[in-house]
Amino acid sequence: MSGNDARVQAVHDITNREPMSMKTPEKLEQMWATNVFNLAKMQASLPKAVFKSIKNTIITGEKLDPSVADAVAMAMKDWATAKGAMYYAHVFYPMTNLTAEKHDGFISVQGDGNVISEFSGKVLVQGEPDGSSFPNGGIRDTFEARGYTAWDVTSPAYIMETDNGSTLCIPTVFVSWTGEALDKKVPLLRSIAAMDKAAQKVLKILGHTNIAHVNSSCGAEQEYFLIDANFAATRPDILLSGRTLFGKPPAKGQEFDDHYFGAIPDRVQVFMQDVEETMYKLGIPAKTRHNEVAPGQFELAPFFEAANVASDHQQLTMTILRHTAKKHGLHCLLHEKPFAGVNGSGKHVNWSIGNSTQGNFLDPGDSPHENAQFLLFCGAVIRGVHKYGPLMRAVIATASNDHRLGANEAPPALMSVYLGTQLEEIFEQIKNGSVTESKRKGVMDLGLDVIPPLTKDAGDRNRTSPFAFTGNRFEFRAVGSSQSVSGPLVALNTILADSLDWVANRLESELAKGLELNGAILTVLKEIMEDHGAVIFGGNGYSPEWHKMAQERGLINLPTTADALPVLKQEYIEDLFTKTGVLSPVELESRFEVYAEQYIQSIEVETKLMVHMAKTMIYPAAIEYLSQLSSTISDLADLGIDFEKETVSKVAALGNSIFESVKELSEAIAKHDFATTEEHMNYCAYHLMPLMSQLRQYVDTLESEVADCLWPLPTYQEMLFIK
Ligand code: ADP
Ligand code: MG
Repeated sequence: MSGNDARVQAVHDITNREPMSMKTPEKLEQMWATNVFNLAKMQASLPKAVFKSIKNTIITGEKLDPSVADAVAMAMKDWATAKGAMYYAHVFYPMTNLTAEKHDGFISVQGDGNVISEFSGKVLVQGEPDGSSFPNGGIRDTFEARGYTAWDVTSPAYIMETDNGSTLCIPTVFVSWTGEALDKKVPLLRSIAAMDKAAQKVLKILGHTNIAHVNSSCGAEQEYFLIDANFAATRPDILLSGRTLFGKPPAKGQEFDDHYFGAIPDRVQVFMQDVEETMYKLGIPAKTRHNEVAPGQFELAPFFEAANVASDHQQLTMTILRHTAKKHGLHCLLHEKPFAGVNGSGKHVNWSIGNSTQGNFLDPGDSPHENAQFLLFCGAVIRGVHKYGPLMRAVIATASNDHRLGANEAPPALMSVYLGTQLEEIFEQIKNGSVTESKRKGVMDLGLDVIPPLTKDAGDRNRTSPFAFTGNRFEFRAVGSSQSVSGPLVALNTILADSLDWVANRLESELAKGLELNGAILTVLKEIMEDHGAVIFGGNGYSPEWHKMAQERGLINLPTTADALPVLKQEYIEDLFTKTGVLSPVELESRFEVYAEQYIQSIEVETKLMVHMAKTMIYPAAIEYLSQLSSTISDLADLGIDFEKETVSKVAALGNSIFESVKELSEAIAKHDFATTEEHMNYCAYHLMPLMSQLRQYVDTLESEVADCLWPLPTYQEMLFIK
């Protein structure tokens, strides 16, 4: 094929495809969790004592009693094989943001040569995949390849149905033989435990006696793009890097806002229904779906769940979106910035904490007592974000998310807290008020008694804040669409654990001085506001004024991943993770190495890809057009007709610039002698990236000069508008 043949073929195939029709949906109750080995199924199939034991493990997150493992394994296997599964897989979450699985058959060969299907408690509780090729940041040398996976009992096993059969999937933790976390689940479970412990301390001081296990909840809104698979197949950049490295924005982008909340296109609706059906069968509570701001962009949000389960479900959701898209001849882009000039995609992580006895601690209550508790937990969050804002930036740092943060469409790379006008005023009052100075009751109740019911109106949301209070939870809006939510949840739980522990200690020492409880609470809140109130910001986070003001307030702006990741190596971050027991120094260091490596690799892959595409696709198109133009000009000159030469000069000049730019970029990639990982990252961020944008600019300008019939890549207009 030459010129735009591939494009023409793609458009032809798309416009002539047989539409997939909408199925009559099954009843929700009939689909719900049919593929999950949940508590109800365990109760139905396990002896009473075994069920009681495992239920307790699930609620408390404690270790599974080995004596019940065999019975659970047997029931699980019987259930799975009855549903047609011949294989089981320990599913785990390496540090790549992806999901990994190792499949094994239930088959067991007997001495007499016969086979039976077998699955023991030991196998359920522990597996041993060869972990050597998963990133570990130097924790394990490859010759010591053993890594262990073990069932995380708090996350239920499920059956994954594909056209090629069904597999029993067991969500597991992944650790090295020396016990170090090699995945994203172990730290999440540890951060929940740390937060539970610290929260219990505070709750006890507040006078609660019956306190259930404290957990965090997460509801993650997933944004994504859909384009036809035919277009993706003809764009090497989309196939290999998940985004367009070249492409001129179309004449019509998102300026009419006609896509946002508009009618969902038929083809996409059929796709969504299929996605939701799969999710329901897996017990994932898909709840909202709508078009997003950019053409071709959509969003899916589930009902919130316990953080650990939500995190596993979020990984599954990304897998389901990708797989289902393929089935429908679509390509799902989870990249944060697949198209320049239109909005990118985020994943808003809605986060709250609570338990079954006291409810959601971030929900303002009706009584002064509940309000005091709410303010205290809110204050703890404020302190945490102020103290550890750079950590929050670091856990959302990826090459792809950098394109979005601070691009005036997503929150800036600078952490602040949005509280909403009412709550901000209350905290201001606590800070300025004479409340803590006086022990008089009337004054004391001020700030605790007076909280009016906070409006939970969506219109009041500040969309420019990276971290916003939204009525009964915080919404971490800066998280990238392709990321695992585990990292952000670990950071939030851990900084809250640290803050709650500090709060508990401060309350105790104030009480010891003889202050009554309300007085102690107000003293602590006032102190939080004095030391950490600078992180609260209700204005426009996109504005240059805020960036200046934030700097004056001492808030740190970390524009790129190269700036943000080194935060993980700072002493105060190491202290935080060590004292909460969430990550050891070795584990933390390994995370820095893995994420830095991923950053460098993704930019280097893109650079190489750009050079390749520019040389083999773009440059030839320019030359072909030039040759056609110049021969036309000379043919016309032979006839005595003078024809414009401006286009020829322009295309020639752009061709030259592209040639030079590619040369410069190729030389730049060849550099390998970096003293440190930090230096290498900086080189990517501040040397390679600007060269890439320069090359892109030339190519995108060329796209508006070269004859459409010669342009080799599907255009933005085609990808975003043809479905
Ligand atoms: P919006 O787009 O207005 O932010 P959505 O309805 O798209 O709202 O998403 C809100 C998300 O927040 C949902 O996943 C929802 O389940 C979740 N959520 C609601 N309440 C809580 C809570 N207390 N804790 C955690 N997540 C919550
Ligand atoms: Mg939303």
